[in-house]
Amino acid sequence: MVDNKKLWEQALVEIETNVSQANFGTWFKNTNIVNQDAGVIHLGVPNAFVRDWLLNKYHKFILKSLRNIHQEIRGVEYIIIKNDDKAKPPREDFYNKPQLGDQLGLNELYINREDNLNPKYLLDGFVVGQFNELAHAAAQSVIKSPGTNYNPLFIYGGTGLGKTHIIQSIGNHIKKNNINKKIYYVPSEKFTVDYVNSMQNNKGIAFKEKYRKYDVLIMDDVQFLSNKERTQEELFHLFNHYYENNKQIVFSSDKPPKHIPNLEERLRSRFEGGMMAFIAKPDYEARLAILRAKAKTSNFTPSNETIEYLALNIEENIRELEGVLNSIICQCYFKKRNLSLMEVKSLIKNNIKPKKAVSIKNVTAVVAEFYNIDEKTLYEKTRRKEVVKPRQIVMYILREDFNTSYPYIGQKLGGRDHTTVIYACDKIKEDLKKNEVLTHDLEQIRLLLYNE
Ligand code: ADP
Ligand code: MG
Repeated sequence: MVDNKKLWEQALVEIETNVSQANFGTWFKNTNIVNQDAGVIHLGVPNAFVRDWLLNKYHKFILKSLRNIHQEIRGVEYIIIKNDDKAKPPREDFYNKPQLGDQLGLNELYINREDNLNPKYLLDGFVVGQFNELAHAAAQSVIKSPGTNYNPLFIYGGTGLGKTHIIQSIGNHIKKNNINKKIYYVPSEKFTVDYVNSMQNNKGIAFKEKYRKYDVLIMDDVQFLSNKERTQEELFHLFNHYYENNKQIVFSSDKPPKHIPNLEERLRSRFEGGMMAFIAKPDYEARLAILRAKAKTSNFTPSNETIEYLALNIEENIRELEGVLNSIICQCYFKKRNLSLMEVKSLIKNNIKPKKAVSIKNVTAVVAEFYNIDEKTLYEKTRRKEVVKPRQIVMYILREDFNTSYPYIGQKLGGRDHTTVIYACDKIKEDLKKNEVLTHDLEQIRLLLYNE
């Protein structure tokens, strides 16, 4: 049999593609095969908590992944490896515990083989706020009448903000409404691999037939098509087929088409040719709503204090919010009580990253570059029209994203009075409500600022 390390690495590849990043990171890191005994794999885990969780929720799946590599594997036992402690045998009574995984609704392992859709992704219970309302509305419209108004639908935004969730939901809802519609969800990496394999095996025609037979094609993470010239070309033709036949296409990407490097011009213009919707980071209120919604579906409701603490401190993305909330709910479950705020703090201290140090200089540099003006002018007194607006945008970003005080912003940007800064921020806020160009500009600026 292959060595332990290789075997587990291979199994982890399969596991990783089937569980969310948050769960993968929480439960599978620091695991390894310690030995094999007559077809039974002894899997080393860091603590009892992880062991119980793996046994309870992932056991069958782990076994299946291992058996896919070696059929003679008969079982898996979990052994706690504490630094150099001796391995301890697994606790027997755990089998009798109720299925916590079910209570948390983490049924992510059930992926339909035909369309690759995971039925857990639906718009029911999906939290909508300013940060994602456009994407949500567009998705609803596509679900209502696929292939008509918004074709293609292109959803973009940072990691863990709900892109996969929304585009998979589109597939699931269309499927529910019309069982005859053939839908296919594919991450762009898988599309690339499929294409390359078909070329190597002289199966180009079968590949074309396969990808042309659906009514709805959903492709995730198209930023990975960067540099893949041949695959891009294939997608271009495939796109035309869908478009011309009024069949719906949905794309997601972590950046707008314009910023995907080495993307063929004609494909970029196709991506941009339908509806583009940006998902921003959720603000505090939205983070609170997401946590409350997720907590409601589990048996344990963390205290308000805990939820507010998490919403305030975990700002990066929804996946992280979810991961942390899951660990807390798990701990509550095993301890059979709510955690104190102290316990919550110590549990999540690794998730709280120091805020990215973005200086005023970073903001002015990006804004100046974006509007093609001389950065120096932003710091000067000049009231030239082409400078006033960008300067107001700098002020707005410093206030909104970094909570910088009004007087400080004023002092740094040309020694202005704090009331000027307040006026500028309010003005941009108002303009954003009605000016789509400005909204789009700000999205781009923030992407440039934060995605580096
Ligand atoms: P992305 O594809 O943008 O990286 P995902 O779609 O994988 O992000 O979302 C990360 C996690 O957050 C998923 O578990 C998803 O169900 C959850 N999620 C994202 N947006 C929302 C939302 N608005 N309401 C509830 N859950 C959400
Ligand atoms: Mg995704």
